[in-house]
Amino acid sequence: MEKRELIYEGKAKRVYTTADPDLVIQYFKDDATAFNAQKRGTITSKGIINNALSETFFRLLAANGVPTHFVERLNDREMLVKRLEIIPVETVVRNVVAGSLAKRLGLEEGKELPSPIVEYYYKSDALGDPMINEWHATVLGMATHAELQRINELTLHVNSVLRPFLAHRNLLLIDMKLEFGRHKGEILLGDEICPDTCRFWDATTRKKLDKDRFRQDLGEVEEAYQEVHRRICIG
Ligand code: UDP
Repeated sequence: MEKRELIYEGKAKRVYTTADPDLVIQYFKDDATAFNAQKRGTITSKGIINNALSETFFRLLAANGVPTHFVERLNDREMLVKRLEIIPVETVVRNVVAGSLAKRLGLEEGKELPSPIVEYYYKSDALGDPMINEWHATVLGMATHAELQRINELTLHVNSVLRPFLAHRNLLLIDMKLEFGRHKGEILLGDEICPDTCRFWDATTRKKLDKDRFRQDLGEVEEAYQEVHRRICIG
């Protein structure tokens, strides 16, 4: 399947049409941004690693009953996926306090939550992805109640599949962001699952092995992505 027309260019990916109107190609870039694109940089080989990691996670999730947009990985940087009508609600699921949760509620980073928390954010670069609740999403027509219920259920299920898989590789899944879309009447998990969109800590040392190394200028950014790739895709 070959790329045709560029239809979207985001911070980390490009999306192209194909000869099949139901399928598009995601191309993974090395570009990295943080703080709503105020900080910009490059993480060498990030695109290759995120493509490979996303493939592994999508295959694992599909095997565990989660419908995803993944069709096949085409090469190092390209993945064939089902074309989605993106629902503009990003979900974040959290197991351990970090990032904006620590800041907003004055909680200590690293504190394990008694059970997962799901949050919704309105997908809007112009507004910096503000947090919303079910009322905003439904009353403002972003998603129906039934869709949100399904998204919530899938989000918790993804979390419950990935946590033990990662724990087995001595990684803690601190939190992650998921995106969903509509395809032929069904809600599918879309986007990517990688160290850009999840927080992964080494379970023993609690060393951060994700995009926080870039966000917080912690150094060893490439090495962290390579380490996660090694543990998940190479074993
Ligand atoms: N996240 C993301 N894209 C965003 C915002 C957050 O992928 O635009 C991910 C982030 O990597 C983390 C989780 O969602 O795994 C929760 O992020 P948080 O709300 O703590 O925001 P941040 O601290 O990144 O501003």
